[in-house]
Amino acid sequence: MHNLIIIGSGPAGYTAAIYAARANLNPVLIEGPQLGGQLMTTTEVENFPGYPDGVEPFQMMDDLRRQAERFGTTFVSGVVTKVELGMPHKIWVEDTDLYETKALIIATGASAKYLGLSSEETYRGRGVSACATCDGFFYRKKTVAVVGGGDTACEEAQYLANLCEKVYLIVRKPFLRASKIMQERVLNNPKIEVLFEHNTLQLTGEGKVQGADLVFRKGEPDEQIHHIAIDGFFLAIGHHPNTQLFRDQLAMNEEGYILTAPDTQACLTANSQQQSGQTSNIAAGVFAAGDCCDPRYRQAVVAAGSGCKAALDADKYLQSL
Ligand code: NDP
Repeated sequence: MHNLIIIGSGPAGYTAAIYAARANLNPVLIEGPQLGGQLMTTTEVENFPGYPDGVEPFQMMDDLRRQAERFGTTFVSGVVTKVELGMPHKIWVEDTDLYETKALIIATGASAKYLGLSSEETYRGRGVSACATCDGFFYRKKTVAVVGGGDTACEEAQYLANLCEKVYLIVRKPFLRASKIMQERVLNNPKIEVLFEHNTLQLTGEGKVQGADLVFRKGEPDEQIHHIAIDGFFLAIGHHPNTQLFRDQLAMNEEGYILTAPDTQACLTANSQQQSGQTSNIAAGVFAAGDCCDPRYRQAVVAAGSGCKAALDADKYLQSL
């Protein structure tokens, strides 16, 4: 029986482990399918406090991992395949190894959605990005494209327009789905050209993204294929939280982000959605941190902060037992 198991090896999971280990909780951290989390898909991290010259994602995650290890975190490599929340919480790794714990911190993150083009894979980290805030700075005074027509795409297009020479916004429908105010900002920004009814066929370039082939009004009589020259290609077609393991056990919003009780990282039981806010609906000893419960900010430093909060909440819970 463990005191605390943490699932996830992004900034939220490792920070939770640092705090929990320093509180003598002997945490076990299950690292999951993508060691280091989503951050590992970017090229350089320049906005995490404490790295004035920037840092490679691998280096930063290794620093966090070693810091957690130094205070006594045990690491388990493997993928959690099943969870049964209860007293104790039961966690299966790779279907075979069963772990039991009094407290659990879920830090399983979220994954950006991609279009599914093979060229997205080819140029991942070499012109393809799913985070303008993380990578936009590398495209100063260059030309980039953003895919999507929602609030995120509009926000990312505006963020990039402050840095770049020109921004194409590639929208598959003849209208934007984003809120009116975001639409107006994008449509009135002289640096942003909205390409309605366009889909991306493929990305091109020698060793890095240099262009994209687009199709206008695919399947219609006036269908046209044309090419744009770009240096960066940003996906903003949504994220999906990695919370499938907890569906039917914890309260989530309609997109699957875990809901937490006000002012804490404590999770709520699945049936508490109609009566949220009542402490009796708190899932005892279950806490969430990072992008799996944050559809809004999605930043490494915010995830780290919520990992700290989850560990402090877990410590308090364990002391109360
Ligand atoms: P949304 O689901 O709102 O929008 C996704 C966009 O991507 C849509 O325009 C959709 O097109 C497009 N898309 C999806 N799949 C594809 C594809 N395969 N090819 C091309 N385009 C595709 O996601 P967001 O991340 O924008 O927003 C998520 C939530 O967060 C929303 O509720 C939003 O309002 C909110 N949000 C709020 C912000 C704010 O208030 N400041 C900022 C950012 C997000 P289509 O329209 O055709 O389906």
